[in-house]
Amino acid sequence: MLNNLEEDKLKLKEILNKVVEESLVFFGELDSLPAAKINDTLNYDTHLPIEGTGTIHVLERFLSIHAKQLSGSAGPRYLGFVTGGATPASIAGDWLVSVFDQNVTSIEDSAAGLLELETISMLRELFKLPSSFSGTFVSGATMANFVGLAQARQWAAHKHGIDISQQGMYHLPPVKVISGAPHSSIYKALSMLGMGRKNLHLIPCLPDREAVDIEKLRNFLEENKHTPCIVVANAGTVNTVDYDDLETIGQLQQDYSFWLHIDAAFGGFAACSEQFQHLVKGMESADSITIDAHKWLNVPYDSAMQFTKHQNLQVEVFQNNAAYLGNAIEHPEFVHLTPENSRRFRALPVWFTLHAYGRLGCKQIVERNVEMAQAFTKKITQSSHFKLLAPTRLNVVCFTVVHKDEGVASFEEIKQFLDKLTEDGRVFMTPTIYHGTPAIRAAFSNWRTSAADVNIIWEALCNVYNRI
Ligand SMILES: *Cc1c(COP(=O)(O)O)cnc(C)c1O
Repeated sequence: MLNNLEEDKLKLKEILNKVVEESLVFFGELDSLPAAKINDTLNYDTHLPIEGTGTIHVLERFLSIHAKQLSGSAGPRYLGFVTGGATPASIAGDWLVSVFDQNVTSIEDSAAGLLELETISMLRELFKLPSSFSGTFVSGATMANFVGLAQARQWAAHKHGIDISQQGMYHLPPVKVISGAPHSSIYKALSMLGMGRKNLHLIPCLPDREAVDIEKLRNFLEENKHTPCIVVANAGTVNTVDYDDLETIGQLQQDYSFWLHIDAAFGGFAACSEQFQHLVKGMESADSITIDAHKWLNVPYDSAMQFTKHQNLQVEVFQNNAAYLGNAIEHPEFVHLTPENSRRFRALPVWFTLHAYGRLGCKQIVERNVEMAQAFTKKITQSSHFKLLAPTRLNVVCFTVVHKDEGVASFEEIKQFLDKLTEDGRVFMTPTIYHGTPAIRAAFSNWRTSAADVNIIWEALCNVYNRI
């Protein structure tokens, strides 16, 4: 008797065809699937089987039980966090990543690494970055922030005459890291880097903004003139998509010595549109930049880019020297550039989508999402049920619920409202607190979202409002 693995090898065509068929069913239903699911338990057998059942059975089991508990986050009305969908081209590319199963550590055995370099070069064009930036794919913006800040740390330590990668941080005075409205992942990166979450010094933002007050930033740099500082500038905050004045921050580098890391996880995509590119003016003055691909580029998880002007420092931190892996300094292969050694062929879905839709495709996704965010904003501002908390600068609408007696909702009430909205199933949104006010964020980042969806979203919100 054949075992399941051998049998599956013979049945590969049947298996893959069934996956295609079932994927088409999924995509056909995606518009009407619940945007999110609240699951408290997984009520099925979770034991490791002895022999297994072969793929066809597993597929049937997954689809009939488990898939029904998954969110419709790939669909048009999942507005939680900043969640991109996946373009057809990127799905094709992503499937082939598994088919070809390359380990992109170097360019010695395969052209996969060259394709990654080609993809990075196209992305540089998309974001209008000069060729002085090199880039690598990592799993997400959190990792890109980690890699950028690891280089920043290495740079700062060199200023103190220390090579952290060799000596560790034992003799290093605390490095000053400053930012206006940093993403939570910056704190996480500082924790991973041994620099400490508490050592992030917040510089006040401008009134009613999430953009750093440049004068206060300048004052801090002046006061700390003799210490190497790391400035984390934000290009697109998650609440209100606000941007630091990158151009002016860049100019401060003439007077002060600091490392400039820009977190442009999704805000970097402003560069794709003539309408919005002014927001990222000056991005090229960064030493390191973070941009996510699984958000606004609409490729499947997990994928982001880390750009840097200092590949040498990156190699110092991440080199993985072993006799069989080649010399890191002379030949900086991917294995010497990121936390991972073995790496997925992450560039391929991006390469597919960039070749399939070009610069115009990226611009269209961005502009369409912003248009939808504006249409939704209009409905919010015209209603007495809700209140807009900040101008909608790009693709995120930040608003709150107004009670019938005109008071605004508490955080608990916002959460209850959102739970009811999730139960309704037509749309998913996530809570936040904006300048002390409990609020809701609606982030438009999926290429599928249309004007008709905005109407459905609005209906769902009003229905839930009338039920509370
Ligand atoms: C989403 C986001 C991150 C973290 O990204 P992941 O891809 O989830 O790791 C970091 N910074 C900003 C501004 C973000 O929007």
